[in-house]
Amino acid sequence: MQDSYRYKGMRKRLITELREKGIQDEKILNAFDAVPRHFFLDTTFAEQAYSNMPFQIGSGQTISHPYTVAFQTQLLNLKRGDKVLEIGTGSGFQTCILAELGVKVFSIERHKELYLKAKVIVQKLGYTARLSFGDGYKGLPTYAPFDKVIITCGAPFIPQDLIDQLKIGGVMIIPVGEGAEQQMKKVTKLSDTEVKTEEFGVFSFVPMLEKKVK
Ligand code: SAH
Repeated sequence: MQDSYRYKGMRKRLITELREKGIQDEKILNAFDAVPRHFFLDTTFAEQAYSNMPFQIGSGQTISHPYTVAFQTQLLNLKRGDKVLEIGTGSGFQTCILAELGVKVFSIERHKELYLKAKVIVQKLGYTARLSFGDGYKGLPTYAPFDKVIITCGAPFIPQDLIDQLKIGGVMIIPVGEGAEQQMKKVTKLSDTEVKTEEFGVFSFVPMLEKKVK
């Protein structure tokens, strides 16, 4: 797959759309310019890669809407050098957006096929991210604590293990809900025993599945 002026032009239009929809962080918008989304899609979808749509990425999974990726990223309020845990690597697009923003990314995917594919593309684009194959509910205790945690699949509840792996003052962005829709939540860890939870609207994700690593 190649980048081209045409794709670059399409990216600029997508960025204008994201800006109009309320994404104001220029660093995030610049990251959308730097990461070619069409590389993450099957060649049959490449022409539509910069429309604000989700697509199938294999194994019954989808790459999130660009707006959803931008919105979750904005809620994370990233600082350069933050240690960030992502649950649901999927295509690796969100992983690369995070890496482009200068944070240390750790990402977990439960589908072996997607994990292997994402590894190739992350490396090909020259990003450094630690990808793991496994169950996101468990997090990555070896690398904890994290400054931020982002969940990119719909969780039926907020997993306690992931809260435990957040630093005090750390933030988790997680879509919570069973069924077709989830409420986007921002969970701030106030102390070892207290969290503050805020809500940011309804989104639609593939489910975060438990004990289904394959
Ligand atoms: N961030 C991705 C979004 C992919 S969709 C992207 O930018 O493309 C969500 C992903 O979460 C799917 O690939 C799905 O397989 C994965 N997933 C679901 N439950 C999981 C779990 N318990 N642990 C790890 N990954 C999980």
